[in-house]
Amino acid sequence: MSTNKKLPEGLATETLAVRAGMTRSAHNEHSEALYLTSSFIFENAAQAAVRFSGEEEGNVYARFTNPSVTLFEERLAALEGAEACIATASGMAAITSLVMANLSAGDHIVASSSLFGSTIQLLGTILPRFGIETTFVSQTDAGEWDKAVRPNTKLLFCETPSNPLTQVADIRALSVIAKKHNVLLAVDNCFCTPILQKPLELGADIVVHSATKYLDGQGRVLGGAVCGNKAIVEKVFIFLRTTGPTLSAFNAWILGKGLETLSIRIKAQSASALELAKWLEAHPSVERVYYPGLPSHPQHQLAMQQQKSGGAIVSFEVKGGKDAAWRVIDSCQMLSITGNLGDTRTTLTHPASTTHGRITPEARAVAGINDNLLRIAVGLEAVDDICNDLARGLSAN
Ligand SMILES: *Cc1c(COP(=O)(O)O)cnc(C)c1O
Repeated sequence: MSTNKKLPEGLATETLAVRAGMTRSAHNEHSEALYLTSSFIFENAAQAAVRFSGEEEGNVYARFTNPSVTLFEERLAALEGAEACIATASGMAAITSLVMANLSAGDHIVASSSLFGSTIQLLGTILPRFGIETTFVSQTDAGEWDKAVRPNTKLLFCETPSNPLTQVADIRALSVIAKKHNVLLAVDNCFCTPILQKPLELGADIVVHSATKYLDGQGRVLGGAVCGNKAIVEKVFIFLRTTGPTLSAFNAWILGKGLETLSIRIKAQSASALELAKWLEAHPSVERVYYPGLPSHPQHQLAMQQQKSGGAIVSFEVKGGKDAAWRVIDSCQMLSITGNLGDTRTTLTHPASTTHGRITPEARAVAGINDNLLRIAVGLEAVDDICNDLARGLSAN
């Protein structure tokens, strides 16, 4: 007999992160078991038939469901306050599956122009081949979103704060526009995670995640998820079950454990990010700092209303242009030079030549991604060590 007690109602997010979704096997393991199995067996022919037909709930094949994946889904749903969640092989698989499952040829999307690069590629160049068009609008001007909605619009899509300039979209205002036009609002909650921001409570219909970033938090595996009501998630499930970008059991097991430490990690990382942002703002070689937790940020008030803190991403412009920015990177002895983010180790990148290197200089200028911009994803090192590592390159400028 396994000891599976129902959790009490009203638990805090921090508690759900370590308790939600546990279903113990007959061995009564305390830590989550890892179910490395691609298929499941049946008692008899009749059970196989009702499992396949869906008349009886239960596992059949890991492209459909796997208990390790289910645990991660239930735990993340509890954190986002969602009715349901479906895990995917990556963040891009989550976004692609969400769109393919809920939209058809002839439908239209309104999306922020400040999205993750691959999301812009998907919406701007791949989906039009299947008859799904996207209009890109300002991250910060809700009026533009309202005007861009057409009779065939089905989805509003944003990511907040944005990468790398940390622009904040007003989720509540966008949800009012979505409801007025009877369309869905989806928010990529990768940067804040449900610890700092709960888009569904602010009126969004759907949350998507790249679990690769903070949910894992230790740079080990790819994963993604779509959270929302049962009807939306069920459609994504049917799409995944048929097409296959399902989350692997091993990655789900890593991600389920990642959620247990998410709260203390993201709170520590964002506390350090605020200190770092203040230090950078006071540095004579720094032209400008982009961080929603600073009063100088254009949407500071809004960020403090919809987020619990500024998050762990800080961008800044170095006086002296691209050469000066590269000198800061090359003078670092500790920070990791990589475009990835959401790791325990602080990462540093030059967006204009890496993450945003493939768009034209003109498009970069319109987006405000200047050649002297650097982006930091703050990790768990002592903040003084992070500042000292940057100080070497900055004082050379
Ligand atoms: C990384 C990222 C994605 C894509 O996730 P993958 O897991 O790399 O597929 C989507 N959105 C945001 C905001 C991201 O940072």
